[in-house]
Amino acid sequence: MSGLTIGEAIRRIQTASGVEPQEDTVDTLKAGDPSQPLRGVLVCFTATADVIREAAACGANLIVTHEPTWYSHLDETKGLEDDPVYLAKRALVDGHGLAIWRFHDDWHRRRPDGIQEGMLRRLGWPAPADGGHGAVVQLPEQPLREVVRQLKERLGVSHVRVVGDSEWIVSRIAMQVGAPGGERQMQAAMRDDVDAVLCGETVEWMTAEYVRDAALLGRRRALLVVGHFHSESVGMDYLAEWIAPLLGGAPVAYAASGDPYLYL
Ligand SMILES: [Zn+2]
Repeated sequence: MSGLTIGEAIRRIQTASGVEPQEDTVDTLKAGDPSQPLRGVLVCFTATADVIREAAACGANLIVTHEPTWYSHLDETKGLEDDPVYLAKRALVDGHGLAIWRFHDDWHRRRPDGIQEGMLRRLGWPAPADGGHGAVVQLPEQPLREVVRQLKERLGVSHVRVVGDSEWIVSRIAMQVGAPGGERQMQAAMRDDVDAVLCGETVEWMTAEYVRDAALLGRRRALLVVGHFHSESVGMDYLAEWIAPLLGGAPVAYAASGDPYLYL
């Protein structure tokens, strides 16, 4: 037992992030009672039914998730009230007395962006001077296929979707982890000081087609798409490590929810 309540644990994480609290945030409790004593924390990219079962099995009663639990950015449950998937998941969470808290906005708003920092640490790539989301990382000049090899090997991705040519020499990589939207990804590709844009989830009809046309019109840019899970999970694995010393000795673990896709 940590001597902390769930609510106190959440406040400690928020305070340690150094980010000014804001009213307009998705970082709220999605289930559970903050006055309950904290028994343990399971950190994840998204609280799938399997992650919820794992939390219960390991005795944790707080899940810290990056993505929504109820399938929309604000976790609104309107329209889901009678849905069997929603009801079964809600019963699973409530039945085990679990709290689910989302830590998304402030982990990204922290400087450096916690998700991006976790990914760069895993990749062994240098931290950019501006550590905010969307920073450009400077690597030694190398063929695009070498960057892809590192992504596959170090992030455990089986496939990277690429727009561009694997033999192009690149060095300046714009970090567009997660799903910041097609416009922001396009703006990254439009910059003069970027060779490749590294995306989590992209917008195919915007970003991918812009990058394809750019090359066809003599302005060489590459797009690397690793998927949303693989672009942010290591940043949540890093969060687990980062919060462990803050919570009065409560056990903290990371659960890999995994990529939702099979590649058949
Ligand atoms: Zn994110």
